[in-house]
Amino acid sequence: MVTVEQRTDTGQILKWSNGTWLQHNADKAIEELVIDTRKIAQPSQALFIALKSSRRDGHSFIKDAYEKGVRNFLVSVELDTAPFPDANFILVKDTLVALQQLVGARRKQFKIPVIGITGSNGKTIVKEWLYQLLNESYNTVRSPKSYNSQIGVPLSVWLMKPQHKLAIFEAGISQPGEMEHLGGIIRPDIGVFTNIGEAHSEGFLNTRQKINEKLMLFRYASQLVYCKDYPELNECVVQFMHQLKGAGGNHLSLFTWSQKVEADLQIKHIVKDGNKANIEALWKDEQLTITIPFTDPASIENAIHCWCVMLLMGIPHDVISTRMMALHPVSMRLELRQGINDSTIINDSYNSDLTSLLIALDYLEQQKQHRQHTVILSDMLQIARADADLYEEVAEHISRRNIQRFIGIGPSLYKNRLSFKKNKKLRSVFFKSTDDFLKKFHLITFDSEAILLKGARVFTFEKIATLLEQKVHQTVLSINLSSLTHNLNVFRSKLKPGVKTMAMVKAFSYGSGSYEIANLLQYSGVDYLSVAYTDEGVSLRKAGITMPIMVMSPDATSFDRMIAWKLEPEIFSTQSLRAFTAMAQTLQVQGYPVHIKLDTGMHRLGFMAHDIEPLVKELELNPYVKVASIFSHLAASEDPAEDAFTAGQAAAFDQMSKQITDHLPYKPMLHLCNSSGIVRHPALHYDMVRLGLGLYGVESSKTMQKQLRQVSTLKTIIAQIKDIPVGDTVGYGRKAVATSEMRTATISIGYADGYPRSLGNSKAHVLIHGKPAKVIGVVCMDMCMVDITHIPEAREGDEVIVFSPELPITQLAEWAGTIPYELMTGVSQRVKRVYENEI
Ligand SMILES: *Cc1c(COP(=O)(O)O)cnc(C)c1O
Repeated sequence: MVTVEQRTDTGQILKWSNGTWLQHNADKAIEELVIDTRKIAQPSQALFIALKSSRRDGHSFIKDAYEKGVRNFLVSVELDTAPFPDANFILVKDTLVALQQLVGARRKQFKIPVIGITGSNGKTIVKEWLYQLLNESYNTVRSPKSYNSQIGVPLSVWLMKPQHKLAIFEAGISQPGEMEHLGGIIRPDIGVFTNIGEAHSEGFLNTRQKINEKLMLFRYASQLVYCKDYPELNECVVQFMHQLKGAGGNHLSLFTWSQKVEADLQIKHIVKDGNKANIEALWKDEQLTITIPFTDPASIENAIHCWCVMLLMGIPHDVISTRMMALHPVSMRLELRQGINDSTIINDSYNSDLTSLLIALDYLEQQKQHRQHTVILSDMLQIARADADLYEEVAEHISRRNIQRFIGIGPSLYKNRLSFKKNKKLRSVFFKSTDDFLKKFHLITFDSEAILLKGARVFTFEKIATLLEQKVHQTVLSINLSSLTHNLNVFRSKLKPGVKTMAMVKAFSYGSGSYEIANLLQYSGVDYLSVAYTDEGVSLRKAGITMPIMVMSPDATSFDRMIAWKLEPEIFSTQSLRAFTAMAQTLQVQGYPVHIKLDTGMHRLGFMAHDIEPLVKELELNPYVKVASIFSHLAASEDPAEDAFTAGQAAAFDQMSKQITDHLPYKPMLHLCNSSGIVRHPALHYDMVRLGLGLYGVESSKTMQKQLRQVSTLKTIIAQIKDIPVGDTVGYGRKAVATSEMRTATISIGYADGYPRSLGNSKAHVLIHGKPAKVIGVVCMDMCMVDITHIPEAREGDEVIVFSPELPITQLAEWAGTIPYELMTGVSQRVKRVYENEI
């Protein structure tokens, strides 16, 4: 057996990646691969890999990484290394290829079983469930989150360490040719092909091509688990097996299951019993049954795949059935909620292991709105690892981050508390059980801090969550931050390199939130934020937002606060310029950044053509301000019928801005486009664009709507259900009459929540159990009534969808005779916001 080197050093990396030294100091041990300078845990032992994508060039972050302490770099550009004298630089042709090669070479040193999973759906669930099922028997490493891409796979496989006894990785592809690379990196011994569906088929000619491509993952495998009930999959697998044999490749044996035909594991009956499913099957002439705490078809399929793998690995049946019963849902998102005393709660109380803890700690780190960060962690129940060693590592991760308080719950953490106590800057307390903690809860203060709650299920942290979370009004606006990032990237992909992005977060980020959204935008590297009023800007600053912020409607009485908080005013008249200059002079600041707004036809705020000459005169002699940008706003960028008008605005903008810049000794940025301008007028992007509505997943010109994801979902509940006799009426003014017997639901949303009265009287519907229910009669202040005669399964307390990606806000706007902007910004502040982040 080959032993695995404990240490991987730069010399080995050079060999594995087929690189050459661009600069060589002493060889250093490498523990961590980093592609994002915002996520460096151990800089001195990290290798920064400068990846190039269409949006970003990692080489431009080398200085940042170096300043954070990184001394080892993998690059594909012969850059000047003089500013980094004590660093190692390895030069390769393509950094992504090199990353894949070096991880593939390192992988070959490990002799433990590796499970590789691919397929259209269920990859992440099967991976997480196999982890739940097998980690008790084998110390297991797995892909974090759904890291299954060309970059995610090598980063996952790199996590293999000598102490691991089993590895589980997933692989996903979007184009032909990709799986070949991933197969060479993962080199699974046991393969799982979950299923084949329509997802992500764009890059492929047909289903067979897609299957054959995915099968490339299993080129070196000896076992393959799959379901025979997908006929095309079955045929392709058999062919693949023969091809391997014919080519003198390895022998692939199949482990099949089926509900229809003969198979290794033949499913006989699936009986649903309340919220459980009993699955009965025949295996080697033996009758076996498992019970899982799920009843939906996807969960059943995923569980059967796991069952096959466990049988294949020789796990005894009684162990399988006990663990199957304990399967728990895989939380694919981290939820951010408002907590008591102005705190923020990240609730991740489903599982607890090192990989998922690190993901959650990263997310905690991003909560810049609070200076104070607290972690509440339960014992991690990693049987396969010595406690002392595990908690030593956890304590190290905690101490490397901006965390001031640690609360450990469980006997093992209690026993190993000294690992945490030796960090003098960390306040740490320990409890032997969740109940002990709950008894002392009233003695502990939680105030204006971000709190990560992370506990294994047996520790029932939901009890703690109930105490920490602010009670939620039954109407909730839930905002999907991952969708927001997706939308941002869709718009960024439309910009030429170098064009900057200003994100509009005015009006409480179009109703979606303040620092929660701004934090994410800052983290995503947006260049500027823009708010309407000084107060909005001040609250962002107080919440730790440090990036430039433009204020569009500053009033002269707040100029001192703007300067104090480094907010940059829009200047739209000579008068406002004079007032601001006077304040700058009083406060003795010079060269303060301001933004000149030109009126090119919108006729809202801004300098008109005849104002430019006096403006230039004022600016020329003015040392107190510096024009950071000149901009204007398009009145009808979304409308093709107005393109001539838009062109006229652009021409006026060119002329007026030139008149100003000709007289300035420096070059201000120019910007003109809003969301629909970005989409429809690529020639008018100038130096920066101002992205508003599009960020939240709505696009007025409708040309890009399909690529975007609606960010917000407004939900409420059924407060009461009533049977209405024929002839009775419902609501104020008796506007709705029951012409036949009718069942109504009174739902907890009204015009005071932002559900407009214009949606009443059957104009709109909501969704209950996925079915449309018409709003009948008049919308009241806090409630309205919907017709649920055709939804007999509806119960009091059930969820009601008011708008969501399935019932788009654009549809509601159409019903209400308004625009999405008005509905989005109109959701009342009394409606609680909840933030979701897919992981
Ligand atoms: C609101 C606003 C935007 C953003 O407009 P969207 O249509 O939401 O993209 C851009 N510029 C200015 C001046 C704005 O007021």
